[in-house]
Order: sequence, then structure tokens, then C-alpha cells
Amino acid sequence: MIRKTFHRQRARSSTAHQKSVGNGALLRFVPLGGLEEIGRNCMFFEYKNEIIIIDAGLQFPEDETPGVDYIIPNISYLESKKSNVQAIIFTHAHYDHIGALPHIIQRLGNPPIYATALTKGIIEKRQEDFPNSPKLNVNIVKNGDRVQLSNYFEAEFFGIPHTIPENAAVILKTPAGNMVNSSDFKIEYDAEGKVQGLQDLERIGKIGIHSLFIDSTRAEEEGRSLSEKVVEKNLEEIFKKAGGRIIVATFASLLTRINEIIKIAERLGRKVAFSGYSMKTNIQIAQNLGFIKPKQGTIIPLEEINKFRDEKLLILSTGAQGESNASLMRIVSGEHRQIKIRPGDTVVLSSSVIPGNERSVQVVKDNLSRQGAIVYHSALVDIHASGHAPKEDLKLLMKLIKPKFVVPIHGYYFMRAVNAQSAREMGFSKGNVILMDNGQVAELTKDNFKVLEETVPAFYVMVDGLGVGDVEEVVLRDRRNLAQEGMVVIIVTLDRGHGRLLKNPDIISRGFIYLKENQEILDDIRKRIRGLLSRLPTYQEAEPDYIKTLIRDQIGQFLYNKTRRRPMIIPVVIEI
Ligand SMILES: [Zn+2]
Repeated sequence: MIRKTFHRQRARSSTAHQKSVGNGALLRFVPLGGLEEIGRNCMFFEYKNEIIIIDAGLQFPEDETPGVDYIIPNISYLESKKSNVQAIIFTHAHYDHIGALPHIIQRLGNPPIYATALTKGIIEKRQEDFPNSPKLNVNIVKNGDRVQLSNYFEAEFFGIPHTIPENAAVILKTPAGNMVNSSDFKIEYDAEGKVQGLQDLERIGKIGIHSLFIDSTRAEEEGRSLSEKVVEKNLEEIFKKAGGRIIVATFASLLTRINEIIKIAERLGRKVAFSGYSMKTNIQIAQNLGFIKPKQGTIIPLEEINKFRDEKLLILSTGAQGESNASLMRIVSGEHRQIKIRPGDTVVLSSSVIPGNERSVQVVKDNLSRQGAIVYHSALVDIHASGHAPKEDLKLLMKLIKPKFVVPIHGYYFMRAVNAQSAREMGFSKGNVILMDNGQVAELTKDNFKVLEETVPAFYVMVDGLGVGDVEEVVLRDRRNLAQEGMVVIIVTLDRGHGRLLKNPDIISRGFIYLKENQEILDDIRKRIRGLLSRLPTYQEAEPDYIKTLIRDQIGQFLYNKTRRRPMIIPVVIEI
């Protein structure tokens, strides 16, 4: 709560003295999101009249923003210079990197997009949900490709492991030097713990890198990445032991793991069905592009699972986080049309639990075992590996890339601070490890990385239903207040002209106290309203707004004194 309040205030005051900027001959770098949160990843580089954006992700809402679907980067600075935007580069197809696109693309003048084939497939599929959004202009890039984006910028893409195929880190060649955005990444080890595929990184280390913008999501965690090979081995062991059906719940975005699970199922002679909309669409896209190549007959429609014996089935489902509308939850609650849990089913939750979801995951696990399923989750056995590098792997990337400057991105300040500490342990001097905040502007020359006083707007833009940016702070404050304190509606009926009360005030309360059992407070409120109105001067016409304010203040204070709570007071004045 404190952090966010501070953050908003800083963002707001900074816009007030924002200068007109951007035409000097220095390279400018601005992170618009992803540096004070997980998600909403978005940054841009600017040189003369050219701007290159990397990623435009969304952030899922927090407790402090009730009723908001998600939060997107603030692009008002970019919008004011949209004719300068030369390109948007997407590193990979996770929503915290691509999710804001439909909401901003038009406002940026529909600039060219550069992405790998799978990323293109997923952003174009999502674009279908926004029929009023323009047709995207997406250029497919492959790992290893070099693309001249504009006069001053060139991009080179290189593959780096994550949990989705075709993850592309970027070397952006700029007038100040070569900038590397690591994307989300992990280092891959084989089952024996031998590190895999560092050739690309070693090569990049030799071309001379100005700054490494490096993932910090898991910077606090000690050690190295768990090998995906170990995860696959453990999954296969569990699958072999299963006597009945196997239901694997995981993120639909973990396409690399899903691909392996399908292969294991084939080895064990099981048919595979998919449950959950995002699972189906993601796999369809990956299959069309050849990233998932099941054998003929492996994949069966969910409607046909009853044609096969239990020990010949594996079902991939969404909902490993206990999300209320996802497929696993519908299975557990008995609302799923094709699947009911039966004793002997093996259910595998192959994902980490996102902080905040512990309770709903617990409920799912409880209900599964109550219904007789055997449940495996990643706290019992290694059946999930994160897609983000922990400390030793982050250090390895810094060592291989050999940048002049290290800029931790992707994560809360504390995570980035730990990552910065790792960089210093690797021998980077304090001045060469840069911790910025969203909206801060930096000026880069060949040998310098200078964070300026100047900022651009970076405060939250909230998406609520289909509206963008229409949920103002005051609306959120009301929602928080209603959720925590409830509301009291007071209806007074007055004689127009004299302000005389014509009947006893009606009082309705929701989420505050149960008024029927608190007759005394109810009587007190009525008495006070009568007192209030009788003290109004009778020689002038009653002013409804004034009466409303009076009721709100006085009854609010009275209720606070009585109950130590501040419900929202809604006075309604009816004049007859
Ligand atoms: Zn990712």
C-alpha cells in the first residue's frame, strides 16, 4: 500500500514539470513499465526523430485495484511522438510482454512490428478479440536475423531458453553502442547438470556490448536453473506409475513443457485431449507453425475421451493456479461437461504457485483428493522449472555478455537491487550498475549511462472491461472503500421551499453493519438527521447539495465515533 501511494505521487508530480524533450543528438533510454512490478514490460530507445519500442506487456491487477482487469504501460509520451515510432520489437509471446498491444497499437499509428513466427501467431490470434483494432503489420524474424529498423537502429535476434519456443533476446545496435535486452530467460542444463548452448552468448560477448538489460524476476533465488530435462524425467516417472487417467494442469503459455508432455504421452501409449480455451488455441497455433508435432492419432477431441480406457488417456488442462473460471476448477466443482474426477485419477499440477494464489490452489488440491484423485504438485517433487534465471545463471549471463553497464529490469525494486548486488559481486563498479524507475529518462553515450532528473508519464493505465484508462484513482478509492467499509444510503424527503422533513428518513446499509440488529444506531441516525434539518434557517430555500454535504459529514462523523468505521455515505434528497 505504501509503496504504491509513493509511486503514484512521484509519477504525478513528475509530469507537472515535464520538459519538452527528445531532439538532442544523444541516445535516450526510457523504461515505461516492468521496473516496479512483475509485468507491464515496456521500454523504448530514442535517437533524434526515431523511436524503437521493445515489448508492450500487461500487468495483472493487485489487491489495491479492485475490479480492474489489467494494467498497461502509459504511452502518452510515445503517443505525442507517434510519427517517430519506427518499430515495436516483441521478445516472446507471454502476456506480460505482448498483452498491451491491442490497446496501444492504434494510438501509436500502427507502426511495424518485429517478432518470431510463434509470437506473431499469438499476437494476431489475440488481435481477433479486438475487432476495431487495425490490421497488424508484423515482420517475422528468426533467431540470428539482422534487421535494419530505421536510419539509426539495427536489431539482431538471438535465441535464449524460456518456457515458450522462439524466445528472442535482442541486440539493438544504436549510435551509442550495442544494447542487449535479455528477454525473460533461463539457462538450460542437461539431466547431468551440464550447461547447454552458450555459443551464441559467447559470440555476443565478443562484439562489445554497451548495456545489458537483464531479467530480475528470480534474482533473489540462489543457485542455478532446474533442468527442464529433470522435470520431464520426473513427469514421466509419475505418468508411468499412474493406473487411471492423467490430468496435467499447467499454464497454457508453457508451450515447451506441453510439447514434451505430449511426447511422453506418446511413448506411454496415451491419447491426449485438451481442456480450456487458452490451452486449445495456444496448442493450435503452435501446431500450425510446427512447434508441436504430435503423431497422427495422438490428439483426440475432448468429446471422445469416453471411447478410450482410462489408462490410455492424458488430459492437459488450464487452471493450475486455482483460477475460478479455468478448466481444472470446473472439473473439481463437477461443472465440467466431459470430465468428472474419479478415484484413481492422477492429477499433476505442473506450475509454481503465483504468490496470492496459495489459498485457491489449496482448495483445488483438497477437493481433488476428497474426490479420490492422487495429486502431485511442485512442492512434492520437481515437476516445474521456472522460466527465469536464478542468481548464478544471471551472473553467468553477465560474465558471457561482458557489457559495460548492467541494467536490471523485469521485477520489483528489491529484486532488481539483489540483481544489482550480483553484478557488483561480478566486478561491475557501482556506477556501472543502473537501477532506474519506470518513467525515468537516461542519456547514453559510448562510455556513459546517465540517469536524468527528467521523467515521462509512467503511472498506471487501467483497463476495465473494454474501456482503457477510464478508471480514475477516485473510482478505485471508492471501490476500496466499499470493499472494506461498506455503504449507508440515507434518503430524506423534504418539502420543497421550506426544507421541512416530510417523513422519517429511510436508511439502507450494505456491507457495514446489520441495521436490524442495531436498532439503536438506526434511531440515532434518524434523530440526528431531524436535528440537522431543524437547525436549517427557514427563511431561505433549502439547497439540496448543501443538505447532502451536511448529512455526509455529520452522519459520517457520528458513525465513525460509534463504530470506528467509515462507510461510504450516500445521501439522497427528494423534494416534493
Ligand atoms: Zn515470459
